[in-house]
Order: sequence, then C-alpha cells, then structure tokens
Amino acid sequence: MAELESLEFGKSDFVLLDEVNMEQFLDNLRLRFEKGRIYTYIGEVVVSVNPYKQMDIFGKEVIESYQGRELYERPQDLYAIADAAYKAMKRRAKDTCIVISGESGAGKTEASKYIMQYIAAITNPSQRAEVESVKNVLLKSNCVLEAFGNAKTNRNDNSSRFGKYMDINFNFNGDPTGGHINNYLLEKSRVIKQQEGERNFHSFYQLLLGGSEEMLRSLHLKKDIAMYCFTREGSMSSDDKSNHKAVLSAMQVIGFSSEEIDSVYKILAIILHLGNLVFDSDLDCVLVHSENSVCQIAELACTQPDVVRKTLLYRTVATGGGEVIDKGHSIQEASFGRDAFAKALYERLFCWIVSRINTVIEVKDYNPLLHGKNTVIGVLDIYGFEIFDNNSFEQFCINYCNEKLQQLFIELILRQEQEEYQREGIEWQHIEYFNNQIIVDLVEQPHQGIISILDEACLSVGHVTDTLFLESMDKKLSKHPHYTSRKLCATDKTMEFLRDFKIKHYAGNVTYSVEGFLNKNKDPLFQDFKRLMYNSSDPVLQEMWPEGHLSITEVTKRPLTAAVLFKNSMISLVENLACKEPYYVRCMKPNEVKSPVQFDEQRCRHQVEYLGLLENVRVRRAGFAYRQPYARFLQRYKMTCEYTWPNHLMGTDREAVEAIITQHDFQGDVAYGLSKVFLRTPQTIFTLESKRAAL
Ligand code: ADP
Ligand code: MG
Repeated sequence: MAELESLEFGKSDFVLLDEVNMEQFLDNLRLRFEKGRIYTYIGEVVVSVNPYKQMDIFGKEVIESYQGRELYERPQDLYAIADAAYKAMKRRAKDTCIVISGESGAGKTEASKYIMQYIAAITNPSQRAEVESVKNVLLKSNCVLEAFGNAKTNRNDNSSRFGKYMDINFNFNGDPTGGHINNYLLEKSRVIKQQEGERNFHSFYQLLLGGSEEMLRSLHLKKDIAMYCFTREGSMSSDDKSNHKAVLSAMQVIGFSSEEIDSVYKILAIILHLGNLVFDSDLDCVLVHSENSVCQIAELACTQPDVVRKTLLYRTVATGGGEVIDKGHSIQEASFGRDAFAKALYERLFCWIVSRINTVIEVKDYNPLLHGKNTVIGVLDIYGFEIFDNNSFEQFCINYCNEKLQQLFIELILRQEQEEYQREGIEWQHIEYFNNQIIVDLVEQPHQGIISILDEACLSVGHVTDTLFLESMDKKLSKHPHYTSRKLCATDKTMEFLRDFKIKHYAGNVTYSVEGFLNKNKDPLFQDFKRLMYNSSDPVLQEMWPEGHLSITEVTKRPLTAAVLFKNSMISLVENLACKEPYYVRCMKPNEVKSPVQFDEQRCRHQVEYLGLLENVRVRRAGFAYRQPYARFLQRYKMTCEYTWPNHLMGTDREAVEAIITQHDFQGDVAYGLSKVFLRTPQTIFTLESKRAAL
C-alpha cells in the first residue's frame, strides 16, 4: 500500500483518485511519469511506467535501505513488492508469486531482473557457499536464456520471444535452495524470417561475431552475418561479441559440460547452414544445390551426407498395403521441410537449455523433517495483450493467455480483499465486476471452443483449409456474444472472401486473420527429420529427439497440436499461480519511441484499458478505498486532534484513532478492523491531509 507523499508528485495510489475514470487515471499517471515517479500503486498492485533512462533508485545502498522495513515505509517500487513477497513467504511460510505483465517493451524483463537481484541481495547473510552457488546459477540463467530466447524487434531491442515462469525455492531460513523454469511459446518462426528492422535470436549473431577463429572454423562458419540467409536481414550490435563471452562463461558456471556447449553451438551452425541450402529441380527430381553445406551439416550433426541429403529430398510414406516407400519432395515441399526442421531444431535446443538449467537448479534431497517447509516465490514474465494490424495464430494464443491471467487476477484480487476483510473482522460486501470466464470458455471449452474446432479441422482427413475452419466456427459460434466474423454479418456476396473473425476480449476487440491457423497449429515436421536426429551419434541431439526411434509404420498417434499444448501449459500455469499469494506488477510503455520524456496519451489509454486497471481500481475501491494500520494512521494524523496530540492517553491506538475520526465527524465513512482502520472514500484521507497541512 502506498506511502502518502506530497501531492506535488501526483497520487501515489490510484484508489485516491477523486473519481475513477480514464481521464483522472491518465492525468495522474502522466504527472507521476513527468516527476520521475515511475511506480504507482493500486492497493497492493504496482503500476510501473518504463522510464527509458537509468533511474538512481536501484542498487546496493537502496537495497540495504529496504531490508526489514514494511512496504509502506519506503517510497514505492519493485524492491518493496519483492520484499513483501519475500516476507510473506518467510514469516507466514506462504508460497507467493509475482506476476509481471504488460506489452512488449514495457519493462517486464527488467522488472523481473530487479526483483531477482533484490532477492539475491537480501538472502544468505552468512554467505554460505552452497547458497551462493544456487543464487549465482539462478542469476546466470538469465544471461543464457536471453541469448537464446531474446531478439531485437521494432518494439524492443532486447525483446523476450518466450514467456517465462520461474520458481525460486527457499528453505526455512529463507535462503534460496534452487528453482525451476517453465518456458512458454517460443517465437520460432523468427529463426527463418524476420521483419524489416528486426533480428534473429541474439545467439546467432553472438556466435558469428564473438566465436573464436577456432570455433568458427570447426563449425564451418565465417565471421560474416551477411553470408547467412537467416542472419542477413539483421544488423550487428556492439554487444554481440562481449555477450558471446558472457554466455559461454555463464553456461560453464551453470554446469554445462564442454561437450554440451559444443553441441549447442553445433546446432546453431547446422541451422545457419540449413538456411543457405537451395533446392533445384532436374528433369524429374529435386536436388540440393549446395553439396558442400550438406556435407557440413552431416559432419556437425554426426551423421552421413547421404542420409542428410535423402532426408531433405524425400519422405518415407506407408502405402495402404503396408509397404514403405520413399516419396520425392517438390521444391516447395523440400523448402518447407527445411524451414520446419530449422525451426524445430531451434525450439528443441531452447527447451533443452531450459531443462538442462533445471536439472542443475532443481532442489534435490530436500527433507522437510530436516529442513522445515520448503517455500516458493514464483516470478512470471509473460507477453501482454497484443493487438496488431494483422493478428494471427500467435496473437490468438497470447491473448488467450492474457484472458486466463486476467481471470486469475480478478479472482485473486477479490479473494485477497475478502480475506483481508475476514482477517480484520469487517463485513464483506458484494463487488460487481466483469467476469471474463465467458471469453475463456469461448477459446478453451471442449467441443464448442475455438481450440477444439481448430483441432477438429486439423485432424480431419481430406483437404481442409483455413476457410473451412472459419466456416465451422461461424456455424458453431454464431450466437456467442463475444464471437463474430465479418462473413457472418455479410449481407452481400462480395463479402464471401473475408477470412477473419473477431473476438471481443476483455481488453477490446481483436480481429484475427484465419490464414495460416491450420498449419501453425499442426506445425508439421516430416518424421524423417526426427529419425535423422535420433540416429545422430551426438548424444545431445539424440536426447532432444526421443520420438525419432519410431519407424514410419509405428507412428500412429498424432502429436498434440500447438494450440492444445499451449492450452495445457496455460491451465497448469494458472493452477500453479492460483495456490500462491500473488503480487502484481503491471508494466506500461509511455511511448513508441523509447523516449524518457514523452507521454503518449493515446498509447497509455489503450494500455490502461487492456491491463484492466480501471476495473482493478474499482474492485479495490468497492468496499473501502483506503486502509492503514492504526499506529501508522495515528502517527500521521495525531496532530489534527486535541486528544491525541502530542500523545494520546487512551488504552489502545485504535481508541486514539476513533477519537480522531469522531472529532472530524467521519464516523459514517469508517470501519474499524482488528489491526487497521478502513476508509470508504478517499476524500476522507484528503480532508485529513489538508487539516494536517493547515496546522
Ligand atoms: P519487456 O520485457 O516488457 O518487453 P524490457 O524489460 O525488455 O521490456 O524493457 C525494454 C527496455 O526498456 C529495456 O531494454 C530498457 O532499455 C528499458 N527499461 C525497462 N525498464 C527499465 C527501468 N526500470 N529502468 C531503465 N530502463 C528500463
Ligand atoms: Mg521481456
């Protein structure tokens, strides 16, 4: 909860707005941004605006000044939230989580790093070596994950292209003992294609520009990003070289063996070589143009050139009669296969890196009888709502994720309010709010939900197109209040060609183009590539492709589709968060141009809408807008009342607070809890403030 500070900096908590509306919200946000106050509360939620400049509010001295203090004793910021989550965990043995959301470039990842640094700084005061090593690995894991999972985009030079949830485990002393990382939906399409002005994942440039002569030679690579199709569109950055060293050393610190590190770079090299393969056609068959690359790929993948060539040009199919034949690809199929292979290689590499880190940080041999209850702080850094000019399958998944999180958010905030009322012995009052369950159902419900309809389309035999998928949705969902398609509404035949549908999300309307939905959901990769990798004599490659041992006649089960995998991971994420005590950081981006001074009202309005912040303020204010522990309240306002100044002679602080309230005639606006006084309207606090100021 916010410290009351001078109003010159705006209101430090949005619950104190005179009225809850967009204009007042934005005015306050702008004022605070301009005054360098990048954090503002909504009750216990922190709203953060990316300052786009180094603030002198981080660092060792600041961390020290936070230790052991209560949330409201210091000007608000991330350390306070980290500290509150940590204390709740330590004192009350509660699992807690910090959920950080916001759009790309809003400052989520930076925030999560500050939070982790804070936790690292305040734990293990006795510097025990094994705890220090756990902390070191946790911090170093960021560096590796950013190299492989981040890229320069037009919105953010260091944009995370995956969602991340990290659990940090603590022993009864409150010292970290380990952790676990979950990653969500890596944007693997970036491996083969980047938009103008963007880059591939950092790892490729770091390898090419920072790898030693010897390393590059052994990988058959040249120190030239323009030579590779997959890196050609991106530009070098001055950090690539030094970051390569940092990543290499981080992998060593984490405990990757030198063979494993070799394998990681070999896979990056294989992908770069794959990108340069060109297919050509002879009279009757397709050929690979670049024989040299094929041999290099074979060498790096620890297999034979013949096998690589065949895998690129043919697929094994089982005929109706149980016969197995090799069917040649068309040029188009061969290129498609190559791209799918490159993307899959990178995705599996990323997942392998995450699970490799997990094996190191996993808490082993924890004995609760010996060590006390093992508690957890989870940190979620995940993509926010996306509305682009052109929205596709990826935005559909991301926005579904945000619907799930929004639902959890409202549920948890309500639960928290209710619990506080109960704890304080104050009667609970019903709160009106928009429940977005209906939209979550629209997406994930069995049979009738969009994901089910999509899967049905993907799994049905015969030639099913994106358009047929759209028709199927139109048929099943035409009556749904949050679904519509222009085709559904079209009255004249000229609208027949429209291939998009619209979902009315809690955050606003988003129109999705169905183009590519089926393919992205099926995410097909010829079985031959899996077998190729499984048969590699490189143990890391083999480990990444366990299903490659199946022969074509044995492959009967279809792999789960991308949407179903994503849905399952979201459901388990939400289950995991729901049983923890939540702390929220809502990140906002003040402008599109990374300026530390510009406050783009239009952009901010949009974000306030889709982060559901007004709804948040309303829920928080529905009962009692403001609350404070008795001692704290007394300290601030005792000078406004003759019975409490300079010291009160009453039995308890509560009685003294009652004296203040009665003197100013605020009885109707107040409820007395066990440890806190609750004020219904913010005006009361302002009247008290002005009385205080007038003295
Ligand atoms: P997100 O993860 O939300 O996409 P990032 O955390 O990567 O965004 O932040 C994008 C950029 O904004 C950072 O690279 C940094 O330049 C700037 N930034 C974000 N938060 C801060 C902060 N607290 N102080 C200074 N700069 C920041
Ligand atoms: Mg990020």
